[in-house]
Amino acid sequence: MDLQLNDKTVVITGGAKGIGEAIVRLLAKEEAIPVVVDRDSHATDKLCEELVTAGYRCETAVADLSEDGACEKVVATIKKVSPHVDALVNNAGVNDRVGIDDADTEMFLGSLRKNLLHYYGMVHHLLPDLKKTSGPIVNIASRVALTGQGHTSGYAAAKGAILALTREWAVDLRHYGIRVNAVLPAEVMTTLYREWLDKLPNPEEHLANIKKMIPLENRMTRTEEIAAMVGFLLSPQAGHITGQHLVVDGGFVHLDRSLH
Ligand code: NAP
Repeated sequence: MDLQLNDKTVVITGGAKGIGEAIVRLLAKEEAIPVVVDRDSHATDKLCEELVTAGYRCETAVADLSEDGACEKVVATIKKVSPHVDALVNNAGVNDRVGIDDADTEMFLGSLRKNLLHYYGMVHHLLPDLKKTSGPIVNIASRVALTGQGHTSGYAAAKGAILALTREWAVDLRHYGIRVNAVLPAEVMTTLYREWLDKLPNPEEHLANIKKMIPLENRMTRTEEIAAMVGFLLSPQAGHITGQHLVVDGGFVHLDRSLH
């Protein structure tokens, strides 16, 4: 299937590592122009240099999106190098384990700043450009929004709000031909996941137990499998899909728990 993404400029937040990196690699190979927005300048430059050396296109805009005013500044930077913006993937986030009994309101707000506010900020500041191109938006959420996880109120609240905003924006922006969808990963081995796992008492035992509970092939979802769904949703091939929550998780959330 031709995703028809060639020459499309796509902004990917948190694009330097993990799921975002896989999305950037897929888009580069589809002859799109990924714009990597990430706070890790070393990983951002390394990824884009590798892609450009291999003959693909890639642009960068280094920023910590949890800082005040960062989205506005980063969009101004993007507009200097990109005459048009054709799509946005909101992906940057961190499961920061701000719970209900061991944190306070300030910490909860801090978690929303890391995981939610910049999703709104990026859409808000890119909207004039996305309206011109009818550019689709994909929001990366999490299965935590559906299942809870424990000890992570801030992250769960942010991811739940991202699902609600996906529907809200799909309604608001339909007159501009802008489609808005959410992808919910569950268990994907990335830097973020490894760091979360390593904070648990018995990480490898915990990982083995999780894999046992994933009905399809008892394995983690690959970053490329999340990227494939995102690439499809960004494509005109998904032209009548909007306001949807797509769970890419080997059946982890929805299939019968008694399966072996
Ligand atoms: P990752 O491996 O940590 O990669 C995320 C990248 O985004 C990193 O380069 C990170 O930089 C950057 N980043 C994070 N916050 C940022 C900010 N405020 N401003 C700019 N850059 C920022 O994470 P991942 O596992 O790929 O997760 C990507 C998304 O998928 C997140 O929204 C996450 O909630 C979601 N998700 C992941 C899983 C999973 O199993 N991995 C499951 C459900 C949902 P630093 O390294 O400096 O933090």
